[in-house]
Amino acid sequence: MSKNKKKELTLKEYIDGIFSGDRTILSKAITLIESQNPKHRKLSQDIIENCLPKAGNSLRIGITGIPGVGKSTFIECFGMYLADKYNKKIAVLAIDPSSQSSKGSILGDKMRMVHLAGNKNAFIRPTPSSGSLGGVARKTHETVILCEASGFDTILIETMGVGQSEYAVNSMVDFFLLLLIAGAGDEIQGIKKGIMEMADAFVINKADGDNKKNAQLAKKELENALKLFPKKESGCTPKVLTCSSLMKEGIEEVWETIEEYKSNTIKNGYFQKKRKEQSKNWMHETIKESLKNYFYKNPSVINNINEIEKSVIEGKMNSFDAANKLLKIYFDNIN
Ligand code: GDP
Repeated sequence: MSKNKKKELTLKEYIDGIFSGDRTILSKAITLIESQNPKHRKLSQDIIENCLPKAGNSLRIGITGIPGVGKSTFIECFGMYLADKYNKKIAVLAIDPSSQSSKGSILGDKMRMVHLAGNKNAFIRPTPSSGSLGGVARKTHETVILCEASGFDTILIETMGVGQSEYAVNSMVDFFLLLLIAGAGDEIQGIKKGIMEMADAFVINKADGDNKKNAQLAKKELENALKLFPKKESGCTPKVLTCSSLMKEGIEEVWETIEEYKSNTIKNGYFQKKRKEQSKNWMHETIKESLKNYFYKNPSVINNINEIEKSVIEGKMNSFDAANKLLKIYFDNIN
């Protein structure tokens, strides 16, 4: 009866493909996770469930910074370094929902990271093309699980550094890296304090040519500013580094910093504690998102919602009564 003539893979085919490192099948499974079609949800959930026992063994790194700071240049350089020098298996994901105005995904059509994209140890997935941040965050989190089950040991999650997405990324990574540039003068102030406080390390990029001195100056300034920041729960003081993604300088120091953080936080138990806390939060996020979906997809709710909305707009009903009425309709009509 299905109009879709394409052969659909079975759960077993998906799982076997993911476990054997088949990129095409991994991509298809991610597409299923991203699908808005409720029919795909059950299958994607089964895939995730099967992948979970094999997940969790990667190092998850969030990378943020304002547009133009050099994120994709850095990720390409950093990813190539890890893939070639340490034979790391790198998955690059992005979390910002692509907006209408930016015309597509931030990792998408522009074909950024061409070298990394061609590296046999790397997998680059463009950001999901639609949905709310909460929805995209969930999909990215689930994609991490699939990538880990497929053998990727280093997950880099890029975000644009301009809004709420940093908080979402922080809820799914072990280490959060903030890229900055020197020379603009107020670049540090331009980033919200909350985001600064989340960072586990700061990297001042474009420390090359005439800009080298400025980068050193910005590093000193930032180190001074950081003295006023509250102590991190991780027990580690965030380092300030400089690098040039273009000249491939300072990249090793970034990796050493992350490795040192990992080993210190595993020793003091924070690494494990953060993962457990994140799992707990994801449980709640999943519940909230599912409840919302069930509610808005309930046929009785759909049948009544426009009229009740209209009553609110026309002042015939207040919003609380309206919400309660719709909730009652929902609870009276489950199943
Ligand atoms: P994104 O928007 O943060 O992803 O930034 P891009 O990686 O697209 O870089 C923006 C611009 O900065 C590009 O023209 C890059 O070539 C340039 N760029 C990136 N990294 C460096 C660097 O380390 N040094 C210099 N001089 N330019 C860089």
